[in-house]
Amino acid sequence: MRLSELGEFGLLGELARRGLVQRIENDAARFAPDFVVTQDALVEGVHFRLDWTGWRDLGYKAAAVNISDLAASGAEPEALIVSLGLPRETEADDVIELYEGIAEAGVPVLGGDTTSADRLYLSVTALGRASRVPGREGARPGDLLVVTDPLGASAAGFHCLKEGIKSSLVRSHLRPPLRVVEGKELAGTAHAMLDISDGLASDAQRIAERSHCRLVIELERVPIADGVAEIAERVHDDVYSLACAFGEDYELLAAVLEPGRFTVVGRCEEGEGVVFLRDGEPVERSGWDHFRD
Ligand SMILES: [Mg+2]
Repeated sequence: MRLSELGEFGLLGELARRGLVQRIENDAARFAPDFVVTQDALVEGVHFRLDWTGWRDLGYKAAAVNISDLAASGAEPEALIVSLGLPRETEADDVIELYEGIAEAGVPVLGGDTTSADRLYLSVTALGRASRVPGREGARPGDLLVVTDPLGASAAGFHCLKEGIKSSLVRSHLRPPLRVVEGKELAGTAHAMLDISDGLASDAQRIAERSHCRLVIELERVPIADGVAEIAERVHDDVYSLACAFGEDYELLAAVLEPGRFTVVGRCEEGEGVVFLRDGEPVERSGWDHFRD
């Protein structure tokens, strides 16, 4: 079967079924009592376009999305390993700028590899240490769902890039937040936690599946980043499409008993799947799920 039919999750499921990969369900792999590691690859034309992002922002984002997976594991990042595939005609100054962007994320680069390639390819491995990794399977009925900050800014920024709209939201798309402090704070007691990379709807579904409970999210309580509603209107899209379906906000979603300083967006119940409520009534999500298609 071709990968186009199988899909990413189909492929991973098949590898796991054969015992060729193990314990791959979390944001980062734990390989010793307190070590965690994660890796993300970015490919030109698939994950980014050099006419939309500069080399410095690209470096920053590559570091940030990996640090985000460590944050979702309650880990303190300690090192990055960077592998680059570069066309031979690449300017050295551009590569230096890329590394300056990585350095801005504040975690030292301790190794990696460089090779020539047909197009720019960037793979970052992030290593960290965590005393407790919540994972995704411990959410239970009665837990509250919290997010670390408003959502939708990355999606709005993406639309601005696409439509040529000048807006400070573009920066939110190019420069994901680093929620390391929040991650460590939540990891102490959270029953489940992940970073919102694929959108609140999809990522909540992952916790629901792994934890065997239902996640109920009240749309009125979902914090929307400043300016997102205005961009949604300009591009004729639903504000919840931007805030719940696009992803790349890299805020953390956690199931906790005590929300502390974080924003409650819903709760866990007996059952399965993810339910979105508006004014207490279930919302048909097809209205905004199309965004990912
Ligand atoms: Mg993640």
